[in-house]
Amino acid sequence: MSTLEINDLHVSVKTDDGDKEILKGVTLTVKDGETHAIMGPNGSGKSTLAYSIAGHPKYDITSGTVTLDGNDVLAMTVDERARAGLFLAMQYPVEVPGVSVSNFLRTAKTAIDGEAPKLRTWVKEVNATLANLNLDATFGQRSVNEGFSGGEKKRHEIAQMELLDPGMAILDETDSGLDIDALKIVSEGVNRFRAKDAKAVLLITHYTRILRYIQPDFVHVFVDGRIADQGGPELAEELEANGYDKYVKAAVTAG
Ligand code: ADP
Ligand code: MG
Ligand code: MG
Repeated sequence: MSTLEINDLHVSVKTDDGDKEILKGVTLTVKDGETHAIMGPNGSGKSTLAYSIAGHPKYDITSGTVTLDGNDVLAMTVDERARAGLFLAMQYPVEVPGVSVSNFLRTAKTAIDGEAPKLRTWVKEVNATLANLNLDATFGQRSVNEGFSGGEKKRHEIAQMELLDPGMAILDETDSGLDIDALKIVSEGVNRFRAKDAKAVLLITHYTRILRYIQPDFVHVFVDGRIADQGGPELAEELEANGYDKYVKAAVTAG
């Protein structure tokens, strides 16, 4: 249960040729229980938005605000953001060699809740969650993301989300590289999560395919570091038919 408010967010990254502005004034509110899709071409800044909200040190917030239930997210450490109920599933999850999935999940759960989960119910919950995602029990013994297939990485992210149970989840291209069966499994996980109790979800995607399984309440078109258009689910259908061309051209013209 969370409401995320982003107001006129500007974000730069350091490059070899100096600072480059990537987000150029993003304003967006995701209320309790709403699912918003952000769709846009490659390089438009979608991942930058996700990382900025999550607190990745590479991204420099030059102006604007982000609040979660009225609390200043940008003033929080990464850990505080997680404890406040923010979850980010990354486009390119990192490997954590030597740390098993089950240890990782338990450590994260303990850090977020401030106390260790009760062992017996927790193990059951983990096994059920993995099974729902078609991951067998031995998956828990594997090193996080080491040698995982694309589909396993994404299903592991969804397992984390379901078990950590944040109020607000940001899913960055959780659909990329999934075949149709894996896409369905991942989507079912997101839908279980959404149904559990009025979760806020920000679903970042390049393709409309996942939106057939996870119905968004709102769709935002993201081009050149800004929201260029917004609407309901029908906007995704229009993008499927016509692509991002008209938005990209308008952004180029506007400079
Ligand atoms: P998207 O997720 O929409 O594909 P990104 O947020 O990954 O877009 O990237 C937006 C733009 O910012 C791209 O031009 C990318 O090259 C640039 N960019 C993102 N992160 C960095 C970084 N850490 N260093 C340099 N450039 C970056
Ligand atoms: Mg990209
Ligand atoms: Mg991206």
